[in-house]
Parts: sequence; structure tokens; C-alpha cells
Amino acid sequence: MTRSGITLRMLLILFIGTFVAMTFSGCATSFDKRGKYHTVRSGESIWRISRAYNVDLQELAEYNNIFSPNDAQPGKRLYLPPKEKTAGYKKLPLGMSAKESRRYAKSSKKKSRSKSIKTFHGKFIWPVDGKLTSPFGIRGGRRHDGIDIAAKSGTPIKAAGSGRVVFSGKMRGYGNLILIRHGDDFFTAYAHNKSNKSKKGQTVKKGQVIAYVGRTGRSTGPHLHFEIRNGQKARNPLFFLPQRK
Ligand SMILES: [Zn+2]
Repeated sequence: MTRSGITLRMLLILFIGTFVAMTFSGCATSFDKRGKYHTVRSGESIWRISRAYNVDLQELAEYNNIFSPNDAQPGKRLYLPPKEKTAGYKKLPLGMSAKESRRYAKSSKKKSRSKSIKTFHGKFIWPVDGKLTSPFGIRGGRRHDGIDIAAKSGTPIKAAGSGRVVFSGKMRGYGNLILIRHGDDFFTAYAHNKSNKSKKGQTVKKGQVIAYVGRTGRSTGPHLHFEIRNGQKARNPLFFLPQRK
């Protein structure tokens, strides 16, 4: 399959963090040696820790699966994500109009400081029914930029939201991969698929079958590696999916 330079450049922008280091690890993870750790002490709030280290509260919460301040109990070891490099932000996901591009550049530059932890349960739907086998965040010093959901090979994968397929093909480490672009600079990625059903350029509806669960790429067993990106920033899918009991 031949890919245009445009597609490759766009993917590099989207997956800049995970792309390079992926060949060293099992799933779509990247080494993160620049981040720090902090163990919560009695009387410390997640908000205070975020201020003390000058880390955005929302980012700190998402990396550590802290959905409310009560989840940060004393003794919990927190990963403090390093400052994102902003240099790449001027490059834009291609396929945007000039107007969209300007808006994107503007929103990327905006320095946001979360005052409280926000969840967006229900913005997207679960792409497959299955067991959550690996959360978003840090494991053994490695960053996992998505979640893993185990399911039988061949289980249909549904689009987590309506949008347009911007990539459908193979990628090193990810195996068969589908990328969907939604509104508001949100993207979702579906990796290790047995096969892809949707084609690049296709418009898909929320819940529509786009691929089937497999174990292509670097994968130890059949599962879906699912990512949510806002621009190029990996977000914790569990903050955006309906809560499970
Ligand atoms: Zn994964």
C-alpha cells in the first residue's frame, strides 16, 4: 500500500510521542524518563501538588487515573508528566481549511490551567465490549497512551464517535490501525486490528463497525489498543467513556 507524504506527515504529528519509541515495548507505549514521581503525604491535596510542581491539574489527574480529589489518598504514587514541547504545535493536521488551521494554532497556544478535575463521561462510547486489561498512564516507567481492551479475535470494533476516517492501514507496532477525526480537534485510534473495514476518507457514525479485534503489530494477545487524542495530546479514555460498574 502506498501512502502519500501528506498522510505520513499528519501521522507523525499525531503520534509524535509514541511513534519513535514504540519498537522497544509491547504495546503502544513510549519511554518517559523526564517525568517525576511524588508520593502523596497526609494533608496534601491533588490541587496543591499540581501547583507545587507546576503541572496542570487535569493532566496530572488523567495520567494517574484520579477521577476526583478523593482518589489521591496518602501513599499513592503520582506520575508528574513533563512539560509538553510546543514546537510541533505549529504543524497542523493536514486536511484543515486555513480558517480551521488558524483556530487550531490559537487554541494550542492557549495556556489552560484547570481549577478542578473534569470528566467527560459519554462524549465517546466504548468501541468494544471487553475487559480493560491495561489503563492509561505509566507502567514500569513507560507511558501507555491509550487503554487496552481484551476481546475475542474477530469481535466488531465500533467507532467511538461520529467522524471521518483519516487513516486506515498498517503501521509499525500498531498493526492494522484506524484513525478517526471528530470535531473539536479530537481523534480516536484503534490498533492491532485483525482487519479494517472502513476506508480512508469514509464518514462513519458513532457505533458503526469499522474493524475487527485482532493481534496485529506488537501485541501479546487479541485486544484493542484504543487512544483518544486532543490535537496531538493523548487523553485518558476513561475520562471520556461511559463509566462501567
Ligand atoms: Zn495498548
